[in-house]
Amino acid sequence: MGAEGIVWELASELGFDLVGVAPPAPPPAAARLEAWLGAGLQGGLDWMERERPRLLDPKQLLPDARSIVMVGLVHARPAVALGDGARVARYAAGRDYHNVLGKKLRRLRRRLTERGLLGASRQVVDAGPLMERSHAARAGLGFESKAANLLHHRFGPWFFLGGVLLDLELEPSQTPAPGSCGTCRACIDACPTGAILEAGVVDAGRCISYHTIENPGPAPLELRAKFGAWVFGCDVCSEVCPFGQRAPDRGERFGTHAAVETGRLVDWLCAPAEGHGVRFLGSPLTRTTRGGLARNAAIALGNRPSEEGRDALLGALEDPEWRVRDAALWALARGHRAEAGVPEALDRALARPVDAGEREGARATRAAAEGPA
Ligand code: SF4
Ligand code: SF4
Repeated sequence: MGAEGIVWELASELGFDLVGVAPPAPPPAAARLEAWLGAGLQGGLDWMERERPRLLDPKQLLPDARSIVMVGLVHARPAVALGDGARVARYAAGRDYHNVLGKKLRRLRRRLTERGLLGASRQVVDAGPLMERSHAARAGLGFESKAANLLHHRFGPWFFLGGVLLDLELEPSQTPAPGSCGTCRACIDACPTGAILEAGVVDAGRCISYHTIENPGPAPLELRAKFGAWVFGCDVCSEVCPFGQRAPDRGERFGTHAAVETGRLVDWLCAPAEGHGVRFLGSPLTRTTRGGLARNAAIALGNRPSEEGRDALLGALEDPEWRVRDAALWALARGHRAEAGVPEALDRALARPVDAGEREGARATRAAAEGPA
């Protein structure tokens, strides 16, 4: 068996659903990345600008690289909702995929090394400077879609990607993945914030996924009402996609984390910072930190007003983090401004001796929330 066959066999033994090989050359979508960065559509993802040289040339990650093995692991599962109906992206409901895929890729490298096939190698799962989708498309794992994700004709968008750069020469995959978006534009029409500007071009600065996970600060005022029930990530463009509607349920692979299983917005808003890491240990939700999750919970409570939510939001006006107080202020002004005691609480929050910048921000937040929906 040739080296390609050994890689396929080992990857399959490790449970990967998709495997392919791309050359360690600039990714096919290099020009698109340049245009996207040039247009400033990366939101606050400044690391992408910093990492532009490595994103465009995988050899800068591993100078001896002679091939890139791309793998896919399916995570399709039914929609995930908290006890109060708030939504978490399906991929994030269970065990942290960085750990799961990272472990599998380390094993793959170890087994190749044990067989004397491998010297230097480097792996990337999601967070590294590798254009995973583009290399995976070149490796035949799927096709790049109008929603700027990778689609597989059977699994749709419901799979994780990982990549390993190897100093082992492998024949690149020859067969392009079947399928294309064709005339469909369901994701473009369904995106709540209009973040898909045109086929394959997503403005991160308008994307709910970006704002509920990566954005460390307050979310843009004009978008908050469009976040709906999403508290971590957003699956709208994936859920409307005709591809993957009949993908096999692989929910058991990642399970449902206890913090998601028992999660409720009011608890996520009111939980103290102490113990947050322990409560969410092993979950990808740790990425957004306690304050980020509390901020997201406040916005979702503003979009889904309830008596219990109002009480939690009033308490959150005292939160130690500005982004949480700001989101609580917005949510109260949006969902509860006519209720007894709320206007007075908002007046008190605005009159607190905070710095001038925050006071101005709080006024703008209240005005935006009380303006036309
Ligand atoms: S993740 Fe949500 S907000 Fe982002 S592009 Fe898809 S549908 Fe739009
Ligand atoms: S919803 Fe339609 S246009 Fe969007 S990614 Fe899926 S197939 Fe492509």
